[in-house]
Amino acid sequence: MAASPLARFFSKTVRHISQPWRTCQTGWRSFSSISAPDVAPEGATGAVSFPPLQTYSEEESMMREAVKKYAQERIAPFVSKMDENSCMDEEIIKSLFEQGLMGIEIDADYGGTGSTFFSSILVIEELAKVDPSVAVLCDIQNTLINTLFVQLGTPAQKEQYLNRLSTDMIGSFCLSEAESGSDAFALKTRAEKHKDYYIINGSKMWISNAEHAGVFLVMANVDPSVGYRGITCFIVDRETEGMEICKKENKLGLRASSTCPMNFDNVKVPEKNILGQIGHGYKYAIGMLNEGRIGIAAQMVGLAQGCFDHTIPYTRQRVQFGKRIFDFQGMQHQIAHVATQIEAARLLTYNAARLKEAGRAFIKEACMAKYFSAEVATLTTSKCIEWMGGVGFTKDYPIEKYYRDCKIGTIYEGTTNVQLSTMAKFIDKEFDH
Ligand SMILES: Cc1cc2nc3c(=O)[nH]c(=O)nc-3n(C[C@H](O)[C@H](O)[C@H](O)COP(=O)(O)OP(=O)(O)OC[C@H]3O[C@@H](n4cnc5c(N)ncnc54)[C@H](O)[C@@H]3O)c2cc1C
Repeated sequence: MAASPLARFFSKTVRHISQPWRTCQTGWRSFSSISAPDVAPEGATGAVSFPPLQTYSEEESMMREAVKKYAQERIAPFVSKMDENSCMDEEIIKSLFEQGLMGIEIDADYGGTGSTFFSSILVIEELAKVDPSVAVLCDIQNTLINTLFVQLGTPAQKEQYLNRLSTDMIGSFCLSEAESGSDAFALKTRAEKHKDYYIINGSKMWISNAEHAGVFLVMANVDPSVGYRGITCFIVDRETEGMEICKKENKLGLRASSTCPMNFDNVKVPEKNILGQIGHGYKYAIGMLNEGRIGIAAQMVGLAQGCFDHTIPYTRQRVQFGKRIFDFQGMQHQIAHVATQIEAARLLTYNAARLKEAGRAFIKEACMAKYFSAEVATLTTSKCIEWMGGVGFTKDYPIEKYYRDCKIGTIYEGTTNVQLSTMAKFIDKEFDH
């Protein structure tokens, strides 16, 4: 399997960089992390010092810059057309694989880039600055699908799927159903055991990237008598008989990202296609969504920044009352406020990602990052339209698209209320002496 350009770069260069922070016994970074910053503290005098949160390793900086350039050159020209047509350009999907962006954490032995979770977060942020639909394609692949295969796959499953996921196959995550959204584990899809195979019956809703996916991770209950403890994760190939991918939803935003209902009508899946253990599907879903939320937070940070970056130059050019509109104090205070909110959202997101990589508790922080970033994206895009005046309300500028795209941040991978409830549980416990 030919390695991607990024994978080749990492195998030659990045793995050999020095990592001085590893000598710091009291640092907040895990010794197992390979993505912590490769920096000497400014004005170091030998005292223990901690790098700022926005310090990147050589690998991370390189990845960020490469993706920024790629997104500007290869994605930006197609964004408006893809939104209008509600369709992801096939060439963009191909190029994401070619760039090594669909298997960021997958080991190079399986054709992946062999990088880190934090790099995935930076990639999602950079892609979302240009197109949040492309970002969510990359996000789900990296933070949900690949991670599930890497953590739970048998050697045979890894061999069969990881090579494809890093080079040419999209995966979809199938949990939600018409009657089970926030209450996901009330799902009704059944998997009935027969000899050495299962028969799946039921339906799913809102399945991202289903239009192009080659493999589906389907949560189905093998024993409803034990409730959610019967939920099991099945690997279902696209061509499997009885599985139907229905017409995609006509959505407010994120229009280039397909979101489809699916039907399962006596779908026969061999026992060997169970991912992980029988009855542990709910644990896997919770675990992956906890991590996945950091990816959605990064998507919202990137979206907000991308919208802001398109807007500020306009405010510096547009003249009213003989002045740039940027020069009015009423504008400046709003702009500075929004810039601060974006910065705070980014720091929450990076902190959650670094905590996760360091093997430390991160669930509350991931919820905070996702909740806050979605709020900030909503505020930013709304303000940007106002700052642009009438033209911000038209399709001549990309601002209205960011405004439509951001709304999903308060809904998927746990609604805002679900994030707040989870945070409150942690807070309650913290005061439990
Ligand atoms: C574009 C898009 C892509 C998606 N992609 C996927 C995917 O790839 N795979 C997948 O499995 N799912 C996916 N989803 C589904 C998504 O995760 C759900 O829509 C989400 O979990 C919310 O569920 P729901 O839509 O049923 O809303 P509901 O659960 O019905 O919620 C409606 C409202 O009630 C509130 N509410 C519900 N319960 C509570 C409570 N206990 N306390 C307080 N408030 C509550 C919610 O916060 C929300 O405001 C996607 C959805 C969309 C729109």
